[in-house]
Amino acid sequence: MKFANIIVDISLEKLDRTFQYRIPEELQGVLKEGMQVRVPFGNGGRTLTGYVLELTDTCQWDEGKLKPILGLAEKGIRLEGQLIALAAWMRRTYGSTMNQALKTVLPVKKSVQEKISRKVRLAVSREEAEAALAEMERKHQTARARILKALLDQAGQDRQSGQGELDYGTAQKELGLTAATARKLTELGLIRMESDTIFRNPIRPSEVQAHPFTLYPAQQAIVDDVVARTAAGDLRPALIHGVTGSGKTEVYMELIAAVLEQGKEAIVLIPEIALTFQTVLRFYRRFGDQVSIIHSKLSAGERYDQFERARRGEVKVMIGPRSALFTPFSHLGIIVIDEEHEGSYKSENAPRYHAREAAIERARICGAYVVLGSATPSVDSYERSREGIYQLYELPFRVENRAMPGTEVVDLREELRMGNRSIFSARLKELMEDRLGKGQQIMLFLNRRGYAGFVSCRACGHVIKCPHCDVSLSLHGGGRMVCHYCGYQTRAAKKCPSCGSAYIGAFRAGTQQVAEAAAKAFPGARILRMDFDTTRQKGGHERILEAFSKKQADILVGTQMIVKGHDFPGVTLVGVLAADLSLYAGDYRSAERTFQLLVQAAGRAGRGTTPGTAVIQTYSPDHYSIVAAAAQDYKAFFEQEMNFRRMMNYPPAAHLMALYLMSGDEEALNEGAGRLKELAMSHTRPEIQLIGPSDPGLSKLKDIYRKVLYLKCTEMAYLTEWKEWMEAELPGEKLLSTFNIQFDMDPVNPF
Ligand code: ADP
Ligand code: ZN
Ligand code: ZN
Repeated sequence: MKFANIIVDISLEKLDRTFQYRIPEELQGVLKEGMQVRVPFGNGGRTLTGYVLELTDTCQWDEGKLKPILGLAEKGIRLEGQLIALAAWMRRTYGSTMNQALKTVLPVKKSVQEKISRKVRLAVSREEAEAALAEMERKHQTARARILKALLDQAGQDRQSGQGELDYGTAQKELGLTAATARKLTELGLIRMESDTIFRNPIRPSEVQAHPFTLYPAQQAIVDDVVARTAAGDLRPALIHGVTGSGKTEVYMELIAAVLEQGKEAIVLIPEIALTFQTVLRFYRRFGDQVSIIHSKLSAGERYDQFERARRGEVKVMIGPRSALFTPFSHLGIIVIDEEHEGSYKSENAPRYHAREAAIERARICGAYVVLGSATPSVDSYERSREGIYQLYELPFRVENRAMPGTEVVDLREELRMGNRSIFSARLKELMEDRLGKGQQIMLFLNRRGYAGFVSCRACGHVIKCPHCDVSLSLHGGGRMVCHYCGYQTRAAKKCPSCGSAYIGAFRAGTQQVAEAAAKAFPGARILRMDFDTTRQKGGHERILEAFSKKQADILVGTQMIVKGHDFPGVTLVGVLAADLSLYAGDYRSAERTFQLLVQAAGRAGRGTTPGTAVIQTYSPDHYSIVAAAAQDYKAFFEQEMNFRRMMNYPPAAHLMALYLMSGDEEALNEGAGRLKELAMSHTRPEIQLIGPSDPGLSKLKDIYRKVLYLKCTEMAYLTEWKEWMEAELPGEKLLSTFNIQFDMDPVNPF
């Protein structure tokens, strides 16, 4: 490479500005993305340090006028450089502007002071505070004493928690609290300033337990192997396939402890929906004040503060969803990704990165290692463990051999034959009656996915699929059935092409209908519904879950939201009303997502001492993902699913790159999609298969029309190369200049 694009200022406003320099002979082959270099700047003979953003052979200006890089600023890659290198990788792999990529990985400084309600809290026991107060009064430190006394009064009043707490603003007004006093008291360790949205460390130092219990041999074996392997320099990611409750979290914590002992830091990714107080509490118990958390309720400023604490070394373990991956630790040792199969690890904004892939890249850059865990690993990760790219570990049993739930599959075609057209099969209804009679709780789960319905026959279960892509067609307006990949369309069928029955149509069911049907079938039962409508209000989500856990309801009806990350020991029956809903969602991951959801849903039954049962209702009882889920047989599912992916060249057997095209003008969009395809074809190579353009699942969102074009290829490099070409070409395309065009590599969630 002959040239390097350099940024000289990483304050937010200037991220866009890169400058090109010539790479001198002695730095050829040495220079890497993220390295800090010294460069001449301007005409006044100034020298600045900057970071290498990109290496390239394309000269943006007059080659003769480019100045050379003077030299390396320091050896190795510093933290900022590591994150910049990660941003460069993200831009290259997923497609975005460099600015978008940098903003994703570098902690964003807040430019405006945000108004947040801050609390002042006692940081010591009441006895210690009283002793300190006496001392202050003796020394006539009245300002400090006034605050401490007010806090102690509060602590006295609030008998339950015994924790004194004042609102910062109120204390300023009424007690004359100044910033200097607050700082001094904080330095003395007597108070703590917190915003209310930050999880407070609920654990007192004396409650921190280094070794809560000894690991079981199966757990210890994993820890030993990972520690020995990584110490020997084998930094391949570890994939822990372990059923829910098999002790994975304890293994993560033991590995983290080993990393901390070496003076390094740890990042733990947990999907937002599973980031519950109980989970967080376990980490606090084990690691005390070294733990910090970020979550979506934090403001940008608070997030930045958490990141700053990490940078200063006040925090060693950061827990959070996807974006916690960018915690600015300088000596990162381990990245744990729990529930690694979760779709929420894929970003929905450019760059549309996958946190798992980005974690592996970050670990590679800084010499850390990655641990993935799941009860239902993604097909992608399991396949990589088969190929030896990841090291697989298994925990096939629950701790203390607690029972797995029993699972029954009900054939809904059979119900129709028996004349039962209700939402509840005879078997589910019978079990519901039984549980209600015993005062036990029930969850009814509707695994709705996507937006358009698929078309199926209720008599024989036949589902109408795309002849080219082997995914279900979706019913769109005007009675059209559409393939979301290739754009194939046909008129909606009036008769089942397989059995001739007229019971064919779009499959629709909503949580409201289910709740109504349950109320009608069981008039005395108390029913709660949790879906997008009932949780739209702030806190709606938590309120419903809390009411259910307090047994204020007998039946909880809901979508995906109810099966993830929540433990309800009172639940002994889970009904999956129509497994078909996610099975035929019209994308290549439908079967995988269904298997994961069914296993998770079944896992909700019988968390307590009473063994539970899961009933899966379906028109496709023979589908491998349902058969395997009922048998809790991951490997059987995986084998079949991989066969399908291989046959159809879907990831991980190949790579799939999507181009999303968005515009408010429908006609212009159609024209633009045509031009995009032309352009795409003009540069394609025989190894690349071009599919579409087509209408995605959501062909219009907030008045913006959407189209999508796919490229399939076994070589990721060919797709990346094509994307780079396209990115360079697009600005010159007049017709396409008004569209929003985004790239996506290996999409996970339907667009
Ligand atoms: P997973 O993360 O796989 O769902 P957990 O780590 O949460 O599993 O373990 C499930 C339960 O078993 C937890 O309550 C945990 O405290 C307990 N547990 C795990 N390992 C041990 C152990 N070695 N000894 C005693 N209890 C354990
Ligand atoms: Zn039929
Ligand atoms: Zn198709």
